[in-house]
Amino acid sequence: MDAKLDNISNLGIYVHIPFCHTKCTYCDFNTYTGIENSINDFSQALYQEIEFWSITNSNYIVNSIFIGGGTPSYIDQRIINNIIEHIKGNFNLHNKSEITIEINPEDVTHHKALLWEKSGINRSSIGIQSLDDKELKIINRRHNANTAINSLKTLQSIFDNCSVDIIYGLPNQSINSYTNTLNKLIDEQPDHFSSYSLQVERGTLLEKQVTNKNLEVAGDELSATMYEKTMKVLKENGYEQYEISNWSLKGKRSLHNMKYWKLDPYIGIGPGAHSYINNKRFSIVKSPKRYIDFFGQKQNKKSINEKIEYLNNNGMLDLYENQTKKNHIIEYLMLRLRLSDGISKKEFSEYFGIDFDNSYYNKIKKYIENEILIKNSDRYYLSEKGKLFANEVAESFVE
Ligand code: SF4
Repeated sequence: MDAKLDNISNLGIYVHIPFCHTKCTYCDFNTYTGIENSINDFSQALYQEIEFWSITNSNYIVNSIFIGGGTPSYIDQRIINNIIEHIKGNFNLHNKSEITIEINPEDVTHHKALLWEKSGINRSSIGIQSLDDKELKIINRRHNANTAINSLKTLQSIFDNCSVDIIYGLPNQSINSYTNTLNKLIDEQPDHFSSYSLQVERGTLLEKQVTNKNLEVAGDELSATMYEKTMKVLKENGYEQYEISNWSLKGKRSLHNMKYWKLDPYIGIGPGAHSYINNKRFSIVKSPKRYIDFFGQKQNKKSINEKIEYLNNNGMLDLYENQTKKNHIIEYLMLRLRLSDGISKKEFSEYFGIDFDNSYYNKIKKYIENEILIKNSDRYYLSEKGKLFANEVAESFVE
């Protein structure tokens, strides 16, 4: 499953399921509670959108599908099965595709997991966030630590590629409780970890709680200590950090997420989903109602560019950018910096016809001198301490 074979490009498909049982206090994703009565209409619109994008005779082969949200594990398994069947019917799907579903612990049963597997799903990503019941309660998660571990075990008995998501910097979380979560999960040997720093996003309940001083979240120093701890503990236990927030056992990097960081093409299906294809970046409107109204009807358009224009002309895009070369370069550099492999001078010059050192060496020299960036014959990549300064280094490319 190479990134490019002659003129054939690998394509990722992201499917957004915008339903959640309850809203977590920190969440600003495009997801809704209490609109379950629209799930049927929504699923029909989703199938129509998959047909709208249908690419069967071009040079794209789909080798990753990611069903995310929201909470895909919350909706009927038959819809998940139909989504995959529609993708199979409308795209060239590689027979070794990575097909991931995002799962909340409280939704897992052995039976349901077997049905997901039968649909073709071969990778599970479970949102555990913490194994401290008090921390889970404060952020309004519906599971507790016991459920989380049992669900992970169930998934591991069915899938041989299981990822866990955790969060550091939660309200009232100490370095000890975070390390405890990390160690207990390591005991279970998931194939992949994503560990994210809690962000207080605008418009969330968490923002209100923090502004009203009802809750405190970790400051920069504690967050940095937790992040360093994550790097240390996961490394000691055989996990390779291949991206700023992602660690895997050998051969278990997320193929789909790598597409985002490598600027490979992907199509996002569902309200609010983002796409990047043909040097265009765009996202569908967020409102499930507008989405259902529009895609509830059959839409026929031919080329990829015609489809994007059609959506734009019909007011169905919140974001629509034709990528300029300048933007492309900046995005490429910022995203490559997130990866442990960093920036390859050779690849950069093949891609853009520009000598990296001539254009950027002076901007990043101070980071090399301060051992934030490591330089070898072809590559620049962040050191362990440098990972804490990833944003600052990335901004230096824009200056
Ligand atoms: S389950 Fe996930 S998507 Fe749903 S509200 Fe919580 S964080 Fe957001």
